[in-house]
Amino acid sequence: MNETPQPMMKAQNLVKAYSMGGRTLEVLRGVSLNLDSGEICALVGRSGSGKSTLLHLLGLLDQVDSGTLTLEGQNVHNLGAAESAQARARRIGFVFQQFHLLPELDALQNVLLPRRIATGLRWWAQAGDEKEKACSLLTRVGLGNRLRHRPNQLSGGEQQRVALARALVSNPAFILADEPTGNLDRESGKAILDLLLEAAQEQKAALLVATHAEKVAAACDRILHLRNGVITQEA
Ligand code: ADP
Ligand code: MG
Repeated sequence: MNETPQPMMKAQNLVKAYSMGGRTLEVLRGVSLNLDSGEICALVGRSGSGKSTLLHLLGLLDQVDSGTLTLEGQNVHNLGAAESAQARARRIGFVFQQFHLLPELDALQNVLLPRRIATGLRWWAQAGDEKEKACSLLTRVGLGNRLRHRPNQLSGGEQQRVALARALVSNPAFILADEPTGNLDRESGKAILDLLLEAAQEQKAALLVATHAEKVAAACDRILHLRNGVITQEA
Protein backbone atom coordinates (compact mmCIF):
# COMPACT_ATOMS: atom_id res chain seq x y z
CA MET A 1 0.00 0.00 0.00
CA ASN A 2 1.35 3.38 -0.96
CA GLU A 3 1.29 5.99 1.76
CA THR A 4 0.78 9.62 0.83
CA PRO A 5 3.99 11.49 1.67
CA GLN A 6 3.58 13.52 4.84
CA PRO A 7 4.73 17.12 4.98
CA MET A 8 7.73 17.48 7.29
CA MET A 9 5.69 19.77 9.54
CA LYS A 10 1.94 20.08 9.60
CA ALA A 11 0.14 22.56 11.85
CA GLN A 12 -3.65 22.67 11.94
CA ASN A 13 -5.82 25.27 13.59
CA LEU A 14 -3.33 26.39 16.19
CA VAL A 15 -4.89 28.64 18.79
CA LYS A 16 -2.96 30.54 21.44
CA ALA A 17 -4.14 33.22 23.84
CA TYR A 18 -2.42 34.98 26.73
CA SER A 19 -4.33 35.95 29.86
CA MET A 20 -3.19 39.05 31.66
CA GLY A 21 -4.91 41.08 34.35
CA GLY A 22 -8.26 39.37 33.74
CA ARG A 23 -8.12 40.02 30.00
CA THR A 24 -7.51 37.48 27.29
CA LEU A 25 -5.39 38.34 24.30
CA GLU A 26 -6.07 36.00 21.41
CA VAL A 27 -2.83 36.00 19.47
CA LEU A 28 -3.26 33.00 17.16
CA ARG A 29 -6.86 32.24 16.15
CA GLY A 30 -6.43 29.14 14.00
CA VAL A 31 -3.13 28.99 12.16
CA SER A 32 -2.65 26.18 9.67
CA LEU A 33 0.47 25.61 7.62
CA ASN A 34 2.53 22.83 6.13
CA LEU A 35 6.22 22.78 5.41
CA ASP A 36 8.05 20.23 3.31
CA SER A 37 11.63 19.14 3.74
CA GLY A 38 13.98 21.46 1.93
CA GLU A 39 11.41 24.26 1.85
CA ILE A 40 12.53 27.74 2.86
CA CYS A 41 9.75 29.94 4.10
CA ALA A 42 9.53 33.47 5.48
CA LEU A 43 7.03 34.51 8.15
CA VAL A 44 6.20 38.20 8.00
CA GLY A 45 3.76 40.34 9.96
CA ARG A 46 3.63 43.51 12.03
CA SER A 47 5.38 43.69 15.34
CA GLY A 48 3.01 42.07 17.85
CA SER A 49 1.22 40.01 15.21
CA GLY A 50 2.31 36.75 16.87
CA LYS A 51 5.34 35.63 14.85
CA SER A 52 7.40 34.72 17.91
CA THR A 53 4.38 33.08 19.54
CA LEU A 54 3.90 30.88 16.46
CA LEU A 55 7.60 30.02 16.22
CA HIS A 56 7.67 29.06 19.90
CA LEU A 57 4.70 26.72 19.39
CA LEU A 58 6.21 25.14 16.28
CA GLY A 59 9.57 24.84 18.03
CA LEU A 60 7.95 23.05 21.01
CA LEU A 61 9.01 25.82 23.36
CA ASP A 62 5.42 26.53 24.39
CA GLN A 63 2.10 24.66 24.45
CA VAL A 64 -0.87 25.28 22.16
CA ASP A 65 -4.32 25.97 23.62
CA SER A 66 -5.82 23.88 20.84
CA GLY A 67 -4.90 22.57 17.42
CA THR A 68 -2.61 19.82 16.23
CA LEU A 69 1.02 19.74 15.26
CA THR A 70 2.91 16.89 13.65
CA LEU A 71 6.61 16.61 12.85
CA GLU A 72 7.54 13.90 10.35
CA GLY A 73 4.13 12.32 10.93
CA GLN A 74 4.45 12.23 14.73
CA ASN A 75 2.05 14.11 16.97
CA VAL A 76 4.09 16.58 18.97
CA HIS A 77 1.61 19.17 20.19
CA ASN A 78 0.90 17.56 23.53
CA LEU A 79 4.23 16.09 24.60
CA GLY A 80 5.35 16.42 28.20
CA ALA A 81 8.26 18.68 29.11
CA ALA A 82 10.94 15.96 28.96
CA GLU A 83 9.73 14.58 25.64
CA SER A 84 9.54 18.09 24.19
CA ALA A 85 13.11 18.76 25.27
CA GLN A 86 14.24 15.55 23.56
CA ALA A 87 12.31 16.28 20.38
CA ARG A 88 13.78 19.80 20.33
CA ALA A 89 17.32 18.58 20.87
CA ARG A 90 17.08 15.93 18.15
CA ARG A 91 14.90 17.39 15.44
CA ILE A 92 14.61 21.14 15.81
CA GLY A 93 17.13 23.92 15.48
CA PHE A 94 15.99 27.25 16.92
CA VAL A 95 17.85 30.51 16.31
CA PHE A 96 16.66 33.25 18.69
CA GLN A 97 16.81 36.96 18.00
CA GLN A 98 18.60 37.46 21.34
CA PHE A 99 20.95 34.50 20.70
CA HIS A 100 20.22 32.90 24.15
CA LEU A 101 23.69 31.47 24.65
CA LEU A 102 24.56 30.25 28.14
CA PRO A 103 27.03 32.80 29.56
CA GLU A 104 29.05 30.33 31.64
CA LEU A 105 29.74 28.04 28.68
CA ASP A 106 32.27 28.68 25.94
CA ALA A 107 31.38 28.65 22.24
CA LEU A 108 32.10 24.94 21.77
CA GLN A 109 30.12 23.94 24.87
CA ASN A 110 27.20 26.10 23.77
CA VAL A 111 27.17 24.39 20.37
CA LEU A 112 27.32 20.95 22.02
CA LEU A 113 24.40 21.69 24.34
CA PRO A 114 21.68 20.03 22.20
CA ARG A 115 23.84 16.92 21.98
CA ARG A 116 24.24 16.96 25.77
CA ILE A 117 20.47 17.04 26.11
CA ALA A 118 19.95 14.37 23.44
CA THR A 119 22.56 11.95 24.85
CA GLY A 120 22.41 12.81 28.55
CA LEU A 121 26.22 12.95 28.61
CA ARG A 122 28.28 15.78 30.16
CA TRP A 123 30.07 17.88 27.58
CA TRP A 124 33.48 16.36 28.31
CA ALA A 125 32.04 12.85 27.83
CA GLN A 126 30.52 13.58 24.42
CA ALA A 127 31.68 11.32 21.61
CA GLY A 128 34.72 12.59 19.72
CA ASP A 129 32.81 12.80 16.46
CA GLU A 130 30.22 15.07 18.03
CA LYS A 131 32.93 17.40 19.29
CA GLU A 132 34.54 17.32 15.86
CA LYS A 133 31.23 18.19 14.27
CA ALA A 134 30.74 21.11 16.66
CA CYS A 135 34.28 22.35 15.93
CA SER A 136 33.76 22.04 12.19
CA LEU A 137 30.47 23.94 12.39
CA LEU A 138 32.17 26.71 14.35
CA THR A 139 34.96 26.77 11.77
CA ARG A 140 32.37 26.89 9.01
CA VAL A 141 30.79 30.00 10.55
CA GLY A 142 34.23 31.59 10.83
CA LEU A 143 34.82 30.97 14.55
CA GLY A 144 37.42 28.21 14.43
CA ASN A 145 39.70 30.43 16.49
CA ARG A 146 37.02 31.32 19.08
CA LEU A 147 36.14 27.86 20.44
CA ARG A 148 37.01 28.74 24.04
CA HIS A 149 35.52 32.22 24.04
CA ARG A 150 32.52 32.82 26.25
CA PRO A 151 29.55 34.82 24.93
CA ASN A 152 30.65 38.03 26.71
CA GLN A 153 33.98 37.78 24.86
CA LEU A 154 32.26 37.67 21.47
CA SER A 155 30.63 40.37 19.33
CA GLY A 156 26.90 40.24 18.58
CA GLY A 157 27.47 38.83 15.10
CA GLU A 158 29.83 36.20 16.52
CA GLN A 159 27.33 35.22 19.21
CA GLN A 160 24.65 34.77 16.55
CA ARG A 161 27.02 32.58 14.56
CA VAL A 162 27.57 30.40 17.65
CA ALA A 163 23.78 30.23 18.05
CA LEU A 164 23.48 29.20 14.41
CA ALA A 165 26.09 26.44 14.81
CA ARG A 166 24.19 25.24 17.90
CA ALA A 167 20.95 25.13 15.90
CA LEU A 168 22.61 22.97 13.23
CA VAL A 169 24.57 20.52 15.38
CA SER A 170 21.87 17.83 15.43
CA ASN A 171 21.17 18.00 11.67
CA PRO A 172 17.64 19.12 12.50
CA ALA A 173 14.79 18.37 10.10
CA PHE A 174 13.22 21.69 11.04
CA ILE A 175 15.03 24.98 11.56
CA LEU A 176 13.22 27.96 13.05
CA ALA A 177 14.79 31.38 13.15
CA ASP A 178 13.14 34.30 14.96
CA GLU A 179 14.39 37.53 13.37
CA PRO A 180 17.92 36.12 13.37
CA THR A 181 19.39 39.24 11.83
CA GLY A 182 17.37 41.72 13.91
CA ASN A 183 20.12 42.51 16.40
CA LEU A 184 22.97 42.67 13.93
CA ASP A 185 24.49 45.27 11.65
CA ARG A 186 23.74 44.80 7.98
CA GLU A 187 26.94 43.00 7.09
CA SER A 188 26.74 40.50 9.96
CA GLY A 189 23.05 40.03 9.22
CA LYS A 190 23.74 39.14 5.61
CA ALA A 191 26.45 36.68 6.62
CA ILE A 192 24.07 34.95 9.07
CA LEU A 193 21.29 34.80 6.50
CA ASP A 194 23.58 33.32 3.85
CA LEU A 195 24.83 30.68 6.30
CA LEU A 196 21.30 29.85 7.40
CA LEU A 197 20.00 29.42 3.85
CA GLU A 198 23.04 27.43 2.80
CA ALA A 199 22.84 25.09 5.81
CA ALA A 200 19.10 24.51 5.37
CA GLN A 201 19.60 23.66 1.71
CA GLU A 202 22.50 21.36 2.43
CA GLN A 203 20.68 19.47 5.18
CA LYS A 204 17.38 19.48 3.24
CA ALA A 205 15.80 20.91 6.35
CA ALA A 206 12.58 22.88 6.34
CA LEU A 207 13.39 26.44 7.37
CA LEU A 208 10.92 28.98 8.74
CA VAL A 209 12.35 32.42 9.34
CA ALA A 210 10.41 35.25 10.95
CA THR A 211 11.63 38.51 9.55
CA HIS A 212 10.98 42.19 8.94
CA ALA A 213 13.64 42.39 6.29
CA GLU A 214 12.35 42.35 2.72
CA LYS A 215 15.66 41.02 1.49
CA VAL A 216 15.37 38.01 3.78
CA ALA A 217 11.81 37.32 2.66
CA ALA A 218 12.80 37.69 -1.00
CA ALA A 219 15.46 34.99 -0.57
CA CYS A 220 12.82 32.45 0.56
CA ASP A 221 10.69 30.07 -1.55
CA ARG A 222 7.44 31.16 0.06
CA ILE A 223 6.22 34.06 2.19
CA LEU A 224 3.56 33.58 4.87
CA HIS A 225 1.76 36.64 6.24
CA LEU A 226 0.50 36.55 9.80
CA ARG A 227 -2.37 38.97 10.26
CA ASN A 228 -5.22 39.10 12.80
CA GLY A 229 -4.17 35.77 14.22
CA VAL A 230 -4.26 33.80 10.99
CA ILE A 231 -2.06 33.23 7.98
CA THR A 232 -3.81 35.28 5.36
CA GLN A 233 -1.69 34.90 2.26
CA GLU A 234 0.81 32.58 0.80
CA ALA A 235 2.79 33.93 -2.10
P1 ADP B 1 5.79 39.34 17.14
O1 ADP B 1 6.88 38.34 17.32
O2 ADP B 1 5.07 39.20 15.84
O3 ADP B 1 6.26 40.74 17.35
P2 ADP B 1 4.74 38.16 19.60
O4 ADP B 1 4.39 36.77 19.26
O5 ADP B 1 5.98 38.39 20.35
O6 ADP B 1 4.67 39.06 18.26
O7 ADP B 1 3.55 38.78 20.45
C1 ADP B 1 2.21 38.76 20.01
C2 ADP B 1 1.34 39.43 21.06
O8 ADP B 1 1.27 38.63 22.23
C3 ADP B 1 1.86 40.79 21.50
O9 ADP B 1 0.75 41.64 21.63
C4 ADP B 1 2.50 40.50 22.84
O10 ADP B 1 2.39 41.62 23.67
C5 ADP B 1 1.71 39.34 23.37
N1 ADP B 1 2.50 38.42 24.19
C6 ADP B 1 3.59 37.74 23.78
N2 ADP B 1 4.07 36.95 24.76
C7 ADP B 1 3.26 37.15 25.84
C8 ADP B 1 3.22 36.63 27.17
N3 ADP B 1 4.12 35.72 27.60
N4 ADP B 1 2.25 37.07 28.00
C9 ADP B 1 1.33 37.95 27.58
N5 ADP B 1 1.31 38.49 26.34
C10 ADP B 1 2.26 38.09 25.47
MG1 MG C 1 8.90 38.50 17.66
